[in-house]
Amino acid sequence: MSYFIRGHESKWEVVLGLEVHAQINSLSKLFSPSSTGYGAEPNSQVNLIDAGMPGALPVINQECVKQAVITGLGLNAKINLKSIFDRKNYFYPDLPQGYQISQFENPIVGSGHLIIEAEEGTKKIGITRLHLEQDAGKSIHDQDFENSFIDLNRSGCALMEIVSEPDLRSPSEVSLYIKKLRSILRYLGSCDGNMEKGNLRVDVNVSVRRFDAELGTRCEIKNINSIKFIQQAIEYEARRQVKLIESGKIVEQQTRLFDSQKGETRAMRSKEESHDYRYFPDPDLPPLILEKKMIEDLKLQLPELPDKKKIRFIETYGIKKYDAEILVSEKEVAEYFEKLVSDRDPKMVVTWLTGELFSYLNKKNLDNPQSAISVEKFGELLDLINDGTLSNRLAKELFVEFIESNMSASELVKKKGMVQISDENEIINMIETVLDQNQKMLEEYRSGKEKLFGFFVGQIMKISNGKANPQMVNTLLTKRLKK
Ligand code: ADP
Ligand code: MG
Repeated sequence: MSYFIRGHESKWEVVLGLEVHAQINSLSKLFSPSSTGYGAEPNSQVNLIDAGMPGALPVINQECVKQAVITGLGLNAKINLKSIFDRKNYFYPDLPQGYQISQFENPIVGSGHLIIEAEEGTKKIGITRLHLEQDAGKSIHDQDFENSFIDLNRSGCALMEIVSEPDLRSPSEVSLYIKKLRSILRYLGSCDGNMEKGNLRVDVNVSVRRFDAELGTRCEIKNINSIKFIQQAIEYEARRQVKLIESGKIVEQQTRLFDSQKGETRAMRSKEESHDYRYFPDPDLPPLILEKKMIEDLKLQLPELPDKKKIRFIETYGIKKYDAEILVSEKEVAEYFEKLVSDRDPKMVVTWLTGELFSYLNKKNLDNPQSAISVEKFGELLDLINDGTLSNRLAKELFVEFIESNMSASELVKKKGMVQISDENEIINMIETVLDQNQKMLEEYRSGKEKLFGFFVGQIMKISNGKANPQMVNTLLTKRLKK
């Protein structure tokens, strides 16, 4: 299935390819020992190399190379034993060197793929390449009426540019792709994936075509910092292009910006071609040569990635594919789940974890369940529900209060006086009381009106103040009515 552009159903298809800039988790920069710490005093983390002083010599940071290789392996990609650093020349006030050190024809990582669970099923999205490059500094225009400021702290930080094939076909596929990529990066630890801080930045290439026609001319939309805005930008841009073509005009290849307030994209510049940048190998840096052994060693150290983990979860715990997909998307959630489920019923754990706890995490904007409630504390609650001490209903009612209090589950139960009644005699007594009070109904029931069973259950629950164990009420009432 393909994505139809609204109002133009069945005629047009949108084609999308992504360039993702992921900042590498590393203490120092790609070619200099300056710190990469976030939020420091402006221009406090800049040395001669980052400031573009002539004659300062770059030295490659081995840790960044390692992270790029690990990421390539995580993306099922070919690692190139020889890669080249090139200068990409352009002028920008926050680019003091006058060029960016990047990789052009010989990137460190070649083609690979990642898997998304699209609407119509599993889909393989091609990765064209991953290359290493320097980040630029930051220009700040909104602090003063007359002056712009430049902060070079980010100048020279290591980025991985991860380029996809034009294999994506809808805004929702793009969203799945970004989420999957971010998940893999976070599992690998090579990038924290934080879009708000700008540590993961996405450029989207959008084109449209009539079905099965050749690829259309693309526009690139730069640096959109949330998945929601990316989806909006695609919707807008695709419609803009269709309108142009249908009115007999052509789409110009452009770099565009998304205005999130207006929900529009607008032209920033006509797209430069690679020859505009006058790429050439950086004379200060020799080719980067990797040893096979290093790659083999890193391969052995790779963690279990989300796709594999998902399959194992389904097989080991017998849970649904849909649930497994949710549980593995964040490494911390997967770990939390495995600790919690170790000696408990997987179905119950999944229901409570993805239901009550996740909605709590969403409300509080938290990723890691452990930061809301420890496995031990949550586990005890589940155990008390499971052995009938606490009813599901009450547990749900008090869940938020429970998480936010210092009480253990058993203390909560005591304090609230809400221990579930699971004493057989006590329940039998209640059954007798209710049947006594409802003689006429009982006769009707016996003459075939079986629907009244539910009525009796309701009455029993009522006189127990909702505390009677519902399963026991059912069993004991059934037994009693057979007499
Ligand atoms: P550039 O430097 O020109 O941005 P890149 O090779 O870095 O080129 O990235 C090109 C991106 O554009 C890739 O993600 C690719 O999948 C995508 N792309 C190429 N052709 C099209 C097209 N016709 N429609 C949409 N996306 C495209
Ligand atoms: Mg590019």
